[in-house]
Amino acid sequence: MITFDAVTKRYPDGFVAVDNLSMEAETGRITVLVGPSGCGKTTTLRMINRMIDASEGRILLDGADVKEIDPPTLRRGIGYVIQQAGLFPHRKIVDNVATVPYLLGWDKKKARDRAMELLDRVGLDPKLAQRYPFQLSGGQQQRVGVARALAADPPVLLMDEPFSAVDPIVRTSLQEELLRLQSELNKTIVFVTHDIDEAIKLGDRVAVLRVGGKLAQFAAPKTLLSEPADDFVREFLGKDRGIRRLSFVSTEHLRLRTDLTVSSGTAAAGSSDGWLMVVSEDGRPVGWQGRDEPFGTYVHGKDSLRAALDAALLSPSGQAVAVDPAGKVVGIATREALDAALAEAADG
Ligand code: ADP
Ligand code: MG
Repeated sequence: MITFDAVTKRYPDGFVAVDNLSMEAETGRITVLVGPSGCGKTTTLRMINRMIDASEGRILLDGADVKEIDPPTLRRGIGYVIQQAGLFPHRKIVDNVATVPYLLGWDKKKARDRAMELLDRVGLDPKLAQRYPFQLSGGQQQRVGVARALAADPPVLLMDEPFSAVDPIVRTSLQEELLRLQSELNKTIVFVTHDIDEAIKLGDRVAVLRVGGKLAQFAAPKTLLSEPADDFVREFLGKDRGIRRLSFVSTEHLRLRTDLTVSSGTAAAGSSDGWLMVVSEDGRPVGWQGRDEPFGTYVHGKDSLRAALDAALLSPSGQAVAVDPAGKVVGIATREALDAALAEAADG
């Protein structure tokens, strides 16, 4: 656990970048620091590994004051990932990843084996190991940056806007990769971003900072969205706060209609103004009967209400097709049912 105990950073020119910050980053969890540019996120992060020293207050790593630990020892247990990956341009990918093991005096073979294992872990083709950074895409470079930070298997990982410089599609896949990795590795991660969507997606807990380095709110994403502490947080979360909240609402209570499906064997049941979903013999959705229009599915009880809504919006019918984890149709969520669920979510 990383504990900030009334931490203030005053730069030599007198500027207060972090103001009396108290919070905890739990072991094995992702804690996100989010806020507008200049609010003190990077300063906060760098005080953990003492690239910057706090002016007042204490930062404890599992109860030990980081001021009492000499910086090289401290940093051995802390991986650090930055925007643009920060790779050494004249070193091959494998050697970039093995940087810390080399510094720790591992023999070359062991360090390289470890590097190859990590490239695989972060989803990179081992063939890339012999390339130089400029021969990789931005997204691949970021993956290498993550692999490098993990090389010595540090319990703590600090990540400063690691995915901010790549395009949105690559960013999404990097975020998913990080969540997958984290489910295996359970590192204590402090992740900095200015992107509230990223914060909500990745964070077990999210600290919203405002300019002047003041903590505006520290809470689970769900709580941030449902109970923003003040106008600043509410505005920062943006207009689609209501929609985002739905990501945390279950579909298990969404009422389904089972009379709006027909099996593909049956002849067309006359004309109808309504929309009927044709279901194949093995239970899968085929399409709307008599209409060449798209449909969307969600996994009932597993996917969120937001996913169900997205599925409904995909089709001109305004209905979502509910399936089970095996992809078999379990019913239809009509517009009325979705409306009712949305109204309930708004009250709750
Ligand atoms: P963020 O990462 O949230 O964008 P930073 O932690 O980098 O913010 O910076 C917070 C504030 O501290 C900014 O206003 C920045 O200009 C200021 N700052 C950063 N480094 C220094 C420094 N060495 N001396 C004076 N002010 C600084
Ligand atoms: Mg920054």
